[in-house]
Amino acid sequence: MSPKPRSGLGVFEGYHSAQVPATVRLNTNESPFPPPSYLLSRWSEAVQDLSLNRYPDRQATMLRQAIARFHKVEPEMVFVANGSNEVIQSILLAYGGSEAKAASFEPTYAMYETISRVTATRYVPIERGADLRIDASRLEPDLAAAAASLVFVCSPNNPTGMAEDPSLLSRLAADPERLVVVDEAYGQFSPQSMVPEVASRSNLVVVRTFSKVWSLAGMRIGYAIAPPEVAEVLWKVALPYHLDSSKQLLALYSLEYVSEMEERVAQLVAEREHMAQRLSDLPVEQWPSAANFILFRPRDRDAGRLWEQLVERGILVRDWSKWPRLENCLRVTIGTESENRAFLDALEELLA
Ligand code: PMP
Repeated sequence: MSPKPRSGLGVFEGYHSAQVPATVRLNTNESPFPPPSYLLSRWSEAVQDLSLNRYPDRQATMLRQAIARFHKVEPEMVFVANGSNEVIQSILLAYGGSEAKAASFEPTYAMYETISRVTATRYVPIERGADLRIDASRLEPDLAAAAASLVFVCSPNNPTGMAEDPSLLSRLAADPERLVVVDEAYGQFSPQSMVPEVASRSNLVVVRTFSKVWSLAGMRIGYAIAPPEVAEVLWKVALPYHLDSSKQLLALYSLEYVSEMEERVAQLVAEREHMAQRLSDLPVEQWPSAANFILFRPRDRDAGRLWEQLVERGILVRDWSKWPRLENCLRVTIGTESENRAFLDALEELLA
């Protein structure tokens, strides 16, 4: 006999992404580049001077000001947490719960459903169209049927890679009583963003992360750009001093190297286009990506077996082949030129 967890967690499996040894890791959409060494030297020196016997700045004031400058918004519109997953959790703690319903467009990032469950929020899946985009012709009826007070949209969408039309996202936010959360974890790889719209709406939140472009997945830093009233509510559900002082400092310093980050984005976008080009010569179906990964489906081959054969060659991609609507699909993260080449050469050989 063991103590019983809260009801609703019974069938719950938690987050699943294989962590197996591999030399070429193209499975979790991180940046292939480490943070710049001059940034790390500057930070590690400054860490010596932090008063670690004291609690950190609870509201991460300087970091919020820097994020606000970066996005040209007010600091009151910025909420920061330990990764964008924690931002999503804070949103669901604040706006979900047993009396609320959250919806999203499936297939999409699994944590919207997972964190809904953890916060006792009912989750309503809305099916995407046949092309795996949000079905614009059904948007209003689907939303009415879902009757959700909270809607998550991932754009560009993980794992399909496609960005949604901004006018469709504006339609989602038409009802001021519905909180619309646009997850732009991959926003920097896409030419469009909903951040400029946040200031003119009371119900639109954009979520961003330092885990991808900023090369800081290991540090766990994410944030929301939200109307000030919403941001204030998010701070209420955050634990006191949840962001440690060394992390606040590293994120703050990172924001001083925007042009370096933009160069990395341009490099990864060029690599993505190259990858898409080479995939188009292979017997696979692929979806157009505005992110740092590509979803593809091998023709006449079992993707699960192909995944294993890639692992045997030291190459790890993400296996989506058992997911509804993504049958026989794999997703590859864009890595460095040599990692991408290793993956493409192995794939070409295996599909020959
Ligand atoms: N949103 C999306 C769409 C993601 O793909 C991820 C990372 N897999 C996250 C949020 C979470 O990122 P993090 O918690 O590292 O900021």
